[in-house]
Amino acid sequence: MSARHRMRYRIDRAFRQAAAIEIRSKQEMQCRYCKSVLLAGEYTIDHVVPKSRGGLDRKENLCVACVTCNLAKSDMSKKEFRRILESNTPPAGVLLIRAWINYRMERRLQRSLKRICKAVGVDL
Ligand SMILES: [Zn+2]
Repeated sequence: MSARHRMRYRIDRAFRQAAAIEIRSKQEMQCRYCKSVLLAGEYTIDHVVPKSRGGLDRKENLCVACVTCNLAKSDMSKKEFRRILESNTPPAGVLLIRAWINYRMERRLQRSLKRICKAVGVDL
């Protein structure tokens, strides 16, 4: 790796880390796609518009996602990926099925949590 490439790599890494902190605070540590709660070190940075489709390394195009969603989304658009997650039919492929299951489990967990909080009189 040349000095120029090393510098470029450091800049990219610093940018991604800074963007991650900013984006993460806006999203309250949730995966953009499945809404699962993300702990420090468990998140990835995803390009909403994939780089392969012209998406840029700008914070407007970056979001925090869990590893499963990021890998499963691959070079799909947000809309394409969302359509798969919301489908009642399981998708083909191990990564997509994992993301599809996580999405459904998270929705159920959040509904249960709301019901429990309501029952005990706690505001979320
Ligand atoms: Zn996710």
